[in-house]
Amino acid sequence: MNAHPPRLNRPSLDAYWMPFTANRQFKAAPRLLVAAEGMHYTADDGRTVLDGTAGLWCVNAGHGRRRIAEAVERQLSTLDYAPSFQMGHPIAFEFAERLAAIAPGGVLDRVFFTGSGSESVDTALKIALAYQRAIGQGTRTRVIGRERGYHGVGFGGISVGGLVNNRRMFPLLPGVDHLRHTHDLARNAFVQGQPEHGADLADDLERLVALHGAETIAAVIVEPVAGSTGVLVPPKGYLERLREIATKHGILLIFDEVITGFGRLGAPFATDYFGVTPDLITTAKGLTNGTIPMGAVFATRAVHDALMHGPEGAIELFHGYTYSGHPVACAAGLATLEIYAEENLLTRTTQVQAQWHQAMHGLRDCPHVIDIRTIGLIAGIELESREGKPGARAYDVFTDCFEKGLLIRVTGDIIALSPPLIAEAEHIDTMASMLGEALRRAA
Ligand code: PMP
Repeated sequence: MNAHPPRLNRPSLDAYWMPFTANRQFKAAPRLLVAAEGMHYTADDGRTVLDGTAGLWCVNAGHGRRRIAEAVERQLSTLDYAPSFQMGHPIAFEFAERLAAIAPGGVLDRVFFTGSGSESVDTALKIALAYQRAIGQGTRTRVIGRERGYHGVGFGGISVGGLVNNRRMFPLLPGVDHLRHTHDLARNAFVQGQPEHGADLADDLERLVALHGAETIAAVIVEPVAGSTGVLVPPKGYLERLREIATKHGILLIFDEVITGFGRLGAPFATDYFGVTPDLITTAKGLTNGTIPMGAVFATRAVHDALMHGPEGAIELFHGYTYSGHPVACAAGLATLEIYAEENLLTRTTQVQAQWHQAMHGLRDCPHVIDIRTIGLIAGIELESREGKPGARAYDVFTDCFEKGLLIRVTGDIIALSPPLIAEAEHIDTMASMLGEALRRAA
């Protein structure tokens, strides 16, 4: 293991324009993965790399699941594709039904399929706007997001999102406003689970209602736990308060559960974990264990039924994708749900939770660590920025970890860990010790 045999047949790297990647830097020193099994990747030089990030927060049941591969193969050779508009195929109905049986909060049991997290977000925003019109609230055209939110890269998603680099070059949806983020190192550093301080930040929604008028606001969207922007955990009482204010003013609450859906926090959805029920939920990633691209929006019956009242024979929602409910993705999703159920993966995190907190917070005294946040099977480790070079320190730790055989993720100077939910005690200990060594080397 971890010897360096020569690389074979590396392709030219020129033609592929890589997403969210510094292309020129990457291509000068590429990191290529060629195989995966269980908790590990294999790099193209033969090294084994421990997956500390479940791919991109999506391979919740671990890699190389035969059952998914077989289901995909069977589906491909039975019905490879069928039109998604005005035609149906049983497996999409079956998958939706199975998802409805584990409906977030027990009540969001109407399912609209998409092809990704970004598509789920734009779909949820459009459903919210269509819903408000359908109930005679057509003046509600504003949507509210949150600073440091990440909701994918569609125009809706970057508009409600709160990342300047994703927004600055593009025209955005009109009428979007943002809540403040809840990241507060001064009051909430080194917290396990939810921080104590900051529930009052939910009152930003009241301020926006006072500013714009409730009758102009359709929906508010937040990630229950913001992942991609550095693991920001909601303060105790925050989501409850947001729910209360949204309900009071007839505003739909959307949880973006693209990361938190399917067991990441130790409950099937963050909605279940926090006991706060939104009107719409966006998912993707763990829906198919990352294998086949797919997303799903969950809606309450109230939202769904409000859109079913037009004249018979008329299309209720002018929205959908060629790949909505793709049969092969549905087959992958059904097999994924079977694995989650049989191995109790949607609640498994509760069994390793105490060790996870302890192992991650054990890194507290490593050089330049200014905060550690843990919840479910997620950790955010924030480093002090190197003088004049924000992000450089964490990036060095990332490349060093990869060289030594651990895949982590970095966003700015925050390291994020989110291993597959099958992680055993020994994997968690290995991640903590390898990361600790890398942090000490980087100093
Ligand atoms: N929403 C959230 C909360 C996400 O974390 C992501 C992806 N990291 C997305 C939306 C976008 O998903 P995709 O990349 O599949 O479009």
